[in-house]
Parts: sequence; C-alpha cells; structure tokens
Amino acid sequence: MPDGSESESRKLLGRLRDTMAEEAAGQARLDKITHLTADSMGTEVCSIYLFRDEDTLELCATEGLNKEAVHQTRMKLGEGLVGRVARTGKMVNTADAPSERGFRYMPETGEEIFSSFLGLPIQRLGEKLGVLVVQTKAKREFTADEIYALEVVAMVLAEMAELGAFVGEGAALKARHTQATMLRGVTGQEGTAEGHVWLHEPRVVVTNLVSDDPERERERLKAAVEKLRVSVDEMLAGASGEQLEVLEAYRMFANSKGWRKRMEEDIDRGLSAEAAVEKEQSAARARMAQVADAYLRERLHDLDDLSNRLLRILTGQGSETGAEMPTDPILIARNIGPGELLDYGRRLKGIVLEEGSVGSHAAIVARALAIPLVIHAARITTEALNGDHIMVDGDQGLVHLRPDESVVSAFRDKIAMQAQAQERYASIRQKPAMSLCGKRVHLFMNAGLLADLPSLPSSGAEGVGLFRTELQFLIRNQMPRRNELVEVYKRVLDSAGDKPVVFRTLDIGSDKVLPYMKPTDEPNPALGWRAIRVGLDKPGVMRMQIQALLRAAEGRSLSVMFPFVAQYEEFRAARAEVDKAVAIERKLGHVVPEKITIGTMLETPSLAYASKKFFEDVEFISIGGNDLKQFFFAADRENERVRRRYDTLNVSFLTFLEGIVQRCSESGTSLSFCGEDAGRPIEAVCLAAIGLHRLSMRPASIGPVKSLIMRTDLDALYDVICDARERGEQSVRASVLDYLRWSG
Ligand code: PEP
Ligand code: MG
Repeated sequence: MPDGSESESRKLLGRLRDTMAEEAAGQARLDKITHLTADSMGTEVCSIYLFRDEDTLELCATEGLNKEAVHQTRMKLGEGLVGRVARTGKMVNTADAPSERGFRYMPETGEEIFSSFLGLPIQRLGEKLGVLVVQTKAKREFTADEIYALEVVAMVLAEMAELGAFVGEGAALKARHTQATMLRGVTGQEGTAEGHVWLHEPRVVVTNLVSDDPERERERLKAAVEKLRVSVDEMLAGASGEQLEVLEAYRMFANSKGWRKRMEEDIDRGLSAEAAVEKEQSAARARMAQVADAYLRERLHDLDDLSNRLLRILTGQGSETGAEMPTDPILIARNIGPGELLDYGRRLKGIVLEEGSVGSHAAIVARALAIPLVIHAARITTEALNGDHIMVDGDQGLVHLRPDESVVSAFRDKIAMQAQAQERYASIRQKPAMSLCGKRVHLFMNAGLLADLPSLPSSGAEGVGLFRTELQFLIRNQMPRRNELVEVYKRVLDSAGDKPVVFRTLDIGSDKVLPYMKPTDEPNPALGWRAIRVGLDKPGVMRMQIQALLRAAEGRSLSVMFPFVAQYEEFRAARAEVDKAVAIERKLGHVVPEKITIGTMLETPSLAYASKKFFEDVEFISIGGNDLKQFFFAADRENERVRRRYDTLNVSFLTFLEGIVQRCSESGTSLSFCGEDAGRPIEAVCLAAIGLHRLSMRPASIGPVKSLIMRTDLDALYDVICDARERGEQSVRASVLDYLRWSG
C-alpha cells in the first residue's frame, strides 16, 4: 500500500472478509491472507507466525519466504525479531533488520535478501496469538499508514482465529477453546468441585468485522456511545463512595474525544463499529499488561469495562445472552463483589477468579458458603466458554478446563475420597472432641452471614465462637439500619438456640472497606485506623450496633467481643459504651439481656503484655491468630510473597501463645483461638497441646479437626513440641508430623 490511503485499507479489509466467507480449509485461508496482504501493501514478504505452545512460535504461512519452511521454522519467545515482538507485544519497524539487536537469521526461509522488517503482535483482548510480519528487499522504514494497515490485518486475523477460521485440514491453529487446559492459581477456599462453566460476564462475539459503509458504522457508534453515556449518568445518580469514583472515571472515558476519534478512524479504514471498539480494547489490554502503576492499571480496567458495555450495546448481546445457567455452575469472573456472589448463593459449585485476593470480601463470602474458590487464575476468562466442563481443585489452587479422561478420573477419585472422609466426620458429629489423654477440647464455628447458620447443627459445632458482624455491612450498598440488624442478630440467636454466640463488633478498615464509606488513604491500612479505633473515635455506628445486639437478645444472654484492642484502656472505653447503651435501653423501658459477657480479641502482641488487672477484668479473650501472626512476624497476611513465609508452628510463635495461655490461666480468664489456623488439623492439635482448649473455625474444618484430636495424646504431643524446642528447631512441624504419623 505505497500510498497508504484509507481506501486501499478498506479494499484489503473487503478482500479479507471475502476470504473469511469462502469455504476453505484453515491453511488455505492463512495462505490467502499472506498473499493478499503482501499484494495490497506492495511488500515482497508477508508471514504469519503463530504460537504452538506458550513459548514457541511457528511460521504458519508465508508469501515470499521459502514455502518449505512453513511449519518447520520455529523460534522461542524472545528469540530473533519475531520472538521479540511476541515477547514484548510491541512492534518492530526497521529498515535494516540484520543490524537490529537480537536479529537471528533463519537460513531455511531464505530471508537473507530482505532488509526492511515490520512485525506486529497478533493479539486479541490481551491474549497473544502470534506475530504478523512484512518484509521488503529495499531498505526503508514503514510509514504510519502502513503500520496502521498491518495492525488492522493483525486484528482481523486474531478475530478470525477466535471464530475458528483457521481450523481444519492441515490446520495451522488447533481449534480454540476445545483443548484441555490446566490453569494454576491460588487457593481462596479449599474443596473440590466438578461442573460446567458459567461466565459472570459472557464474552461478546464479534462476527462482522469489516464494513463497506463507514457512514453507517459511525452512526451506529455514535448512537451506542450516547446510550452508554446515558446509562453511566443513570448509574452515577444512584452511586456513592468508591463506586462514584469509578463511575466518574467511566464518564470521563465515555466523553473522551480521543477514544471516540480513534474508533472513528478505525471505522474509516473499513472496520465495523464493534471491531473498532474491540481494536481499542485490545490496545488498552496490551497497555494494561505493561503498566506497573496500580492507579493507571485500574483506569485501564475501567476503560476495558466500558468497552465491554459498548460492545454489548452494539452487538445486542447483553448479560442475558439466552444461555441457561447449568445445573452445576462453576462461576468464572475476573472479579466479583460480595453482594453479587451472595445473589448466586449456594447454587454455585465452585468459583474461579482471574484476580481477587485471599482476604477479599468475595473470598470471605465464598468461605462462608463453603464454595471452593481459586483466585489469580490467569487467562481463565479468555480460555473458558459457557458450558465448558471444568474441575476446580481449591486445595491445590488448580483449575482443569475441558479436562481429558485421565484427569477426570483422578479428580473424581479425589472427590470420592473427600466424600468418604465427610461420612467419617458425620459419624463423630455428636461426639465430644476428647483427646486420647482425656482432655476435652471445645470446637466452635466462625460465622458472619445468615447463610452460615445451617452449618451450626450440621457441623457439630458447640456454638459460634466468632460472628464477624462486619460482613452484614460489607455485602450491602448502604449502611444497614438498626432494625435490620436487630432482625439479623435475632435470627442468629434463634437458630443457635441454647448454643452460645460471640458477636464481634464491627471490624472495618484495613482490607475491609465499606463501599459506602469515604475511603481513607492510609499508607499501612492494616496498622491504621481500623476496628475498635474507628469504633471509639466515631462511636455512632458502634453504638447503633450495640443497641441492635441488646434488642435482638430479647432478654437472653449476650456475648460481645471487641476487635483489635491493643491496650487495656481501649477495652475499658469500649465496655463503657456497652454499659451506657444498657442504661439507655433500661431507661427506654426495653428488656436487657439477663447476662452480658464482654471480652476482646487479642490480635496485637501488645495486649499479651497488658497489666494483670486487664486479664482479671476481661471476661474472655479470643486470639485472632490471622492478625496476631501477621504482627508477630511483621508479615502482611494479604501479601502472597510473605504470607506463608513463617510457620504457625514456629517455636517463637508457639512460645508466645503459650505465654498468653499462662497469663489467662493465672487470672482465670476464658481463652479461645479463632484464626484460620484453628481449622487446620495439625495446627489445631498443637494449639490444643499448649493449652488452647477452645477453638473456633470454619464449619467444614470441625470434622477433620475433631477427628485428629480424638486420635491424639495431647500430653505426649506437648512433650514432642518441648523436645523440638529444646533441640533448637525453628518449627516443630516436622517433629509433630513424625509423631502423628508413628502414633497412627
Ligand atoms: C483474626 O485476625 O484472626 C480474626 C479472626 O479476625 P479477621 O480474620 O476477621 O481479621
Ligand atoms: Mg483480625
């Protein structure tokens, strides 16, 4: 395309469209595209390299290089100029390829006579598919128009690949979305599940890429952008807090002239309106992968979301695509909010997220619902199609998409074994957790949602050791009203019957940010203004909550616990709030609980060293091991790099915990442990061995923990722990495992 004109570009696109429409095998189509492109651009060479596997590219079609090299020439990611384009996702445009850094000559291709080189990535929505190259003998750099024309061809190629246009006899590409794929992620919630994919946001399929009528396409784009703008404005009207910020960013993009202009130029060159949107979206995704700055990446995410909305408007493919949710749905999403997840509820068999974090609200909800969850499963939203067979291994953080027979049978064996174990646990449900040496351990469950309550009888828990009240606040779009809270707490107490429930007052801040509260920008939120600190500084919400608890009790006993208390004074001040609320209730003529037990979480090392008076004064203490451990080791519980670095069975930590046991026993204070470690059988028996005889955990953990306690001599295990400590071992885990193995 020496004159690089728009009409040339449109002509080429038209010819590509015809190629697509023709009945032809995949290889024939690829050959034709290289021929058409070289012809239209006036270059001697046009070649298509596609990924064979994650890091190998293969020459799949060429015009101008030796045909014998097709399907023979391969290169690794990063190797030569083609490999460089594939690795960086960036174009290489050079007049003198042999003198370029990293140039590698492939003798079988006969490319030594070509000097200039223009290579572009073939990618679809951030997914790399290959590289498209043109070469000429004459030494010259390619112009902006030529680059643009090749970009459009690359995009059409990517879309055609998505539509399966290159599959068939002698195919260059295997059919997409048909192969078995294993994706490695991170455990969000343990458990295994088999089912079929249900995409939270179904992919939009663009079938008409090319258009002869730019006027019409411009009009369609204009109307769609207008519709989008109106819908963003409507959403803005009802939004608040952080949501408002995101929507403001949406509005900024929806009004962005640059974005519109680029799409209109794409249309003028022959793309349909939806292809133009997708081209810009692909470019944004490619940028997203390279931007390190979290804020900028978020904005690119916003643009991506907006492009999706625009595509849905243009193609008429809403979230209601007519697809029916399978009976065994495994939810696939880039990310999901806790409210949306609750809407799906227990119907879901499993969840796989491309992003997410262990402490995210969605993960908390998944845990409460006991739905296996894998997070950080890269590419899952592009790889999976609605209805695909899928197996989720929440224990290992693995996802098997369209698994082959051997994986299916191995996985089913694993599920069957877990079911057998569950049966075993059911048989001990009514039995007390009594160790071989006659020590009674009390097992409670952690809860936070009404959805948790059916687990109380089914798990064999002796009560709720930790009710995280903040979940009721996190799953809503606005602050719950007092009466709503009274209803929720009442239902919790009603379904617990005579089993005790410990309500923890609001623990917000740090990772738990309420969507409707003004976010505070803190450098270290985990060490910041959170939990009881917020409760005491701005007591309005805590007072409302305490009042709701008092009323929900309807005269029954009530246990209240404060989160994140770091010093005695905070406990005293918080307790005074309860006393005040009781006095007010009395004055108003309301019944007050017959007995109120007030305790605190111990989540900061400082509280372990509080005065004797504190230990005598507080009625009970519950160790929040998740937070306590992160502060003890100075290792962020949310940071994948460090959160597993220090073992809970590290002797320093166990010795520290033993010190707390000692202090509580001296003052006769009831002590429990309610962090995640309480639900891990090996950790749980060690905690019990050092004297923690009240453990609160996820309901699903009660069976496995009880089963191990009943098979363990805790006195003997304590000796094993002491011996390992004596020997100077860093963690007692190896010795404990050895002992448990040999003792049967
Ligand atoms: C803890 O820190 O151990 C705890 C139970 O509280 P949360 O996990 O809700 O912070
Ligand atoms: Mg905590």
